[in-house]
Amino acid sequence: MNTTHKQHLETLAIHAGQPAEPVTGAITPPVFMTSTYVQDGPGGHKGYEYSRTHNPTRQALEANLAALEGGTHGVAFASGCAATTTILHTLSAGDHVVAGDDLYGGTYRIFERVMKQLGVSVSYVDPMRPAAFGEAIRPNTKLMWIETPTNPLLKLCDIAQVAAICKTAGLPLFVDNTFMSPYFQRPLELGADVVIHSTTKFLNGHSDSIGGTLVAKSAEHGDWFYFVQKSEGAILSPFDSFLVLRGIKTLAVRMERHETNGRALAAYLAQHPKVQGVFYPGLPDHPGHALQQRQSSGFGALITFELGSYAAAKKFLDAVEVMSLAESLGGVETLTSHPASMTHASVPADKRAELGITDGLVRISAGIEDLADLLADTEQALAKI
Ligand code: PLP
Repeated sequence: MNTTHKQHLETLAIHAGQPAEPVTGAITPPVFMTSTYVQDGPGGHKGYEYSRTHNPTRQALEANLAALEGGTHGVAFASGCAATTTILHTLSAGDHVVAGDDLYGGTYRIFERVMKQLGVSVSYVDPMRPAAFGEAIRPNTKLMWIETPTNPLLKLCDIAQVAAICKTAGLPLFVDNTFMSPYFQRPLELGADVVIHSTTKFLNGHSDSIGGTLVAKSAEHGDWFYFVQKSEGAILSPFDSFLVLRGIKTLAVRMERHETNGRALAAYLAQHPKVQGVFYPGLPDHPGHALQQRQSSGFGALITFELGSYAAAKKFLDAVEVMSLAESLGGVETLTSHPASMTHASVPADKRAELGITDGLVRISAGIEDLADLLADTEQALAKI
């Protein structure tokens, strides 16, 4: 094999971090359900002392995640929020963060309710205006945080431009890449320093595990994240690591189908008389359409649309049959949700109004079912309004 050849993501997804298991040759990394490892004598271990610090199944996943994002260190946590919380430990009381203003509600809650209480302040800026990130820098700013596309309004942020501002200011840029997955978008290649994922979503892809990861490109960040992971112990379990590794093997084919269905659903919704607006970067009139084409290789499977009132949104959500009304996204099943009362309920009502997260807003995470069935379900649910 030519070891200098740079493998493609589809190949890395299946092989990176997963050589044949040395004892048996098992092609699939076994689930090492063990808390500890027998030593030959005091200190005579094989690199594994205790599963909070080292576990072969988790390590296989961490190596795989690092390869997919083009980083050097992958660190797997018990949830996306546990991964996000780890950034707290790069900060101290008195520090300041600049973040995009349309974030996953749980991230906003960590920033506003946990970090604030510990003396860390956050300024929120319009993610569509890169200069705003530079304007918000204070002498005590220590990092910048973005999601793109954002949750739930699918606003786009120019990763390369914000990364350039960070570089000039000597600040690290953290990017939540959950919505795109490394199949469509690789922020480290665009200048970001750390990528965050809720592996619960597209990476695992089967709605049967909660997990998260940080992927870093420097030893300074990566080693610190491992240190926090082992010290605080919010590790991903061996079984969840196995599930995510298995899910990732089909990431490429799933993402293609997720996106085909997402594009078609968005186009259908955009022409429907009962739909007042559709937010999807794949639509030519989306303000970030060109940027998305530049910084990503796809538009993804998340669509948000406006039905005008809570009553209309409720009628739609009550009527869906193939789609399920549930929090989360990125699974093989198409999910619908009502951001104002579900994923973003932790954002105060006045802030939601300011951001445009209205009561009539509905979000769809397109799954990989048959497209005709999804379109028929959308049509019959809209007819109930
Ligand atoms: N980031 C984004 C964009 C999310 O949508 C979510 C969860 O919905 C998270 C982070 C948090 O991940 P988890 O639910 O795995 O803690």
